[in-house]
Amino acid sequence: MTEYNQPISGNDLARFSGPNTFMRLPQAASLDGVDVAIMGIPMDIGTSWRSGTRFGPKQIRAESAMIRPYNMTTGAAPFDTMNIADIGDLAINTFSLQDSLRIIKDSYDAILATGVVPVAMGGDHSITLPILRAMAKKHGPVAVIHVDAHADVNDEMFGEKETHGTVFRRAQEEGLLISDKVYQIGLRGTGYGPDDFKEPQGWGFQHFLASELWNRSLSGMAAEIRRDIGGRPTYLSYDIDSLDPAFAPGTGTPEIGGLTVMQGLELIRALKGVNLVGCDLVEVSPPYDQAGTTALVAANLLYEMLCILPSKSDAE
Ligand code: MN
Ligand code: MN
Repeated sequence: MTEYNQPISGNDLARFSGPNTFMRLPQAASLDGVDVAIMGIPMDIGTSWRSGTRFGPKQIRAESAMIRPYNMTTGAAPFDTMNIADIGDLAINTFSLQDSLRIIKDSYDAILATGVVPVAMGGDHSITLPILRAMAKKHGPVAVIHVDAHADVNDEMFGEKETHGTVFRRAQEEGLLISDKVYQIGLRGTGYGPDDFKEPQGWGFQHFLASELWNRSLSGMAAEIRRDIGGRPTYLSYDIDSLDPAFAPGTGTPEIGGLTVMQGLELIRALKGVNLVGCDLVEVSPPYDQAGTTALVAANLLYEMLCILPSKSDAE
């Protein structure tokens, strides 16, 4: 039917063998003919508490080996309409956060220049700032759907301006965001002061606290966000710690009382139709992932993101 890349079927090669690429897709050496590029950004030097996200991409790929191409709930078939490839890991500099962020920005500039939609497997959340810099250079300021236990709007951490906890303040300061189209979903936990969330709300950020979402379906909320965004270019940044540690314990800064896996699925699925220009899933830390469930959830959420990416046929 098509010449698009297909994941290796479990009927052709046992699922525990084959390449350690996302869903055992071909690893592409070039971006020629690729519509969606999945890549690892194996980095944990921007984190403030537990490390280990440098091993995230490798483990997410390993857990993705059991995912099959058809989404039996939504009917999505991403491999029928887009050429999706794993392009390997970015060669970050593990001895320098600043240099790594520069490498990510340069890599994204090159990828976006080809029209390919990038999907990143983190890595800690500091990877998202250089990605947003590249996105804004390409598309102008973007809408952002940011799913996270934390707002990541600190001014600095130990004097450092670029860390996993400062991403969205920097992005706001640098004019990378459509400020009133930034949706921070799943926020909770303890803060440094009672007004921690007020300042980003003053910039226009829209907050959806986890406690407001407990015991609720997220389908309606996500549909409202979709309508509010309209056709604007939108970046989806999914911090796995948005989920409750019961579902995703393998992460650097866990917070209790989080979203469920089912809410994560509802949220992503209801965003179908948004003009997504890129996505990431960050903060999976395999050393703290004793049962492997965190990487398994992450792999499946990334698959669900592929299922909602605008395909070429949508644009016609
Ligand atoms: Mn985060
Ligand atoms: Mn977080």
